[in-house]
Amino acid sequence: MKEVAKIYNWINGKEVEPDNALWIDKYDPHTGKILSKFADSISTDVSTAIEASCLAYNDWSRSTAIQRGKILTDIVNELKRCSEDLSKCISVETGKPPSDADGEVSAAILQAEYWAGEGMRLYGRSLSSGVFGKHSHTIRQSLGVSGLIVPANTPIANIAWKCFPALICGNTVVLKASEDAPETALQFAKITNYAGLPPGVLNVIQGRGNIAGVSLVNDDRVPLISFTGSTATGRSIAEICAKRMARVSLELGGKNAFVVCADADIDHAITWASSSAFSNAGQRCASASRMLVESSIYDEFRDRLVRRAKSLVLGTSRGCDLGPVVNSRQHASILNAISQASKDNGKVICGGKIPDKHELKGGYYIEPTIIENLPSNNDLNNTEIFGPVVTLQSFSSLTDALQIVNQTKYGLTSSIHTKDVDRAFWFAQNVRAGVANVNLGTHGSEPHMPFGGFGWSGNGTREPGVEALDVYTELKNISVFVDEKNI
Ligand code: NAD
Repeated sequence: MKEVAKIYNWINGKEVEPDNALWIDKYDPHTGKILSKFADSISTDVSTAIEASCLAYNDWSRSTAIQRGKILTDIVNELKRCSEDLSKCISVETGKPPSDADGEVSAAILQAEYWAGEGMRLYGRSLSSGVFGKHSHTIRQSLGVSGLIVPANTPIANIAWKCFPALICGNTVVLKASEDAPETALQFAKITNYAGLPPGVLNVIQGRGNIAGVSLVNDDRVPLISFTGSTATGRSIAEICAKRMARVSLELGGKNAFVVCADADIDHAITWASSSAFSNAGQRCASASRMLVESSIYDEFRDRLVRRAKSLVLGTSRGCDLGPVVNSRQHASILNAISQASKDNGKVICGGKIPDKHELKGGYYIEPTIIENLPSNNDLNNTEIFGPVVTLQSFSSLTDALQIVNQTKYGLTSSIHTKDVDRAFWFAQNVRAGVANVNLGTHGSEPHMPFGGFGWSGNGTREPGVEALDVYTELKNISVFVDEKNI
């Protein structure tokens, strides 16, 4: 029998076994069979990675941002060269169709290009002073070892989103890979190594969040934690960081609303609604999980969305619309949420179950699901599900709709479909979300755009865009007194 591949930690430029010699099974989301085994790292593994990162910090932080930018450009080129292999790895680990994986790799490369260029832009500001002869300016300086913790929904994009700004700013990195995409993280580390990133500057720790992740968050040698993941985990990380006065950036969950007004272009709205709710099997922090539709077009919109959802093709081949969800725990939790919604008198008008198709039986598939008839205070309208599940509600006035949109504790992204400029701008101004889109999906950002959320969707930081510099650097104000008497 073929031996299952082992996915190691990456420390100081090398693959390293976990200290306890234990491994965790990683399952293929499409078949439910074991795909690989990844290191079950413990605190000593994390400590070794932090040590390597501390040792590499001196040289890396003292190189100029332009020198670092050149190395990041070499990584960009290597990413391009390896993009096919990387995409295959992502597709297999996460179960997403190859076209989605290709798109994600391209997004990661674009992110990397943006940050490589930042090497020539890492600007401070010059400041005026009330004191005659005093000349002031600000500079940005690195913090030290950054602990970066990521989920698997878009694994390489999540990794790029954090690693490139951290590195260009002069920090070294200990990346905690997701349990659901361990090989993608290891491949990324190898790519950076091949491109010439010095050993120790980027280290990858595999393993469980509650062991390896917690060890990283607790370590006083790590002054910055940047975390993307669920709100519950983010809260526990924030508590630890608060106690030890570490900086923390949290990119968390969402319960994003998609609003359709009666004057909207319905064809266009249906296209965006379907991709907002069901692409990546709904495993996007920015996915639309609540749709609010003006009552006069509710029936038409509902029937057309159901038809569209039923036409979506599930599977992992090229051309499929969505794959399985990433693991069995997530699969069970989504099915449980659907069943609870039915008990609460929710009407499942599309999907709601594991698909019947024989070839999908072993995997963690769930049919695209649409549920109506749930009050806005129902759990399903307020809790992130992270799967291909959306609720439909009708509204009679946009003010009522906005009130419902703003009632959840989250506030990540939002979208309104209307041809009326007053409605569009009024909604965009008043919605409590970090992203407000008009006649688009609830989709997120581009490398130069700030992304992050209100309320339970984050802690006020924004990544990427220039705003990410505030996460990954310390700001120093330097003032010099020029004494004219000495001239
Ligand atoms: P998760 O919180 O369970 O895990 C995310 C990462 O944190 C994993 O690497 C995990 O190992 C680690 N982790 C878990 N517990 C930890 C702990 N106690 N201490 C330190 N690390 C720990 O999230 P998930 O289910 O993997 O990902 C889905 C979540 O991510 C959703 O809530 C989604 O909305 C969110 N997300 C947010 C964004 C954003 O930009 N706002 C982007 C993508 C995903």
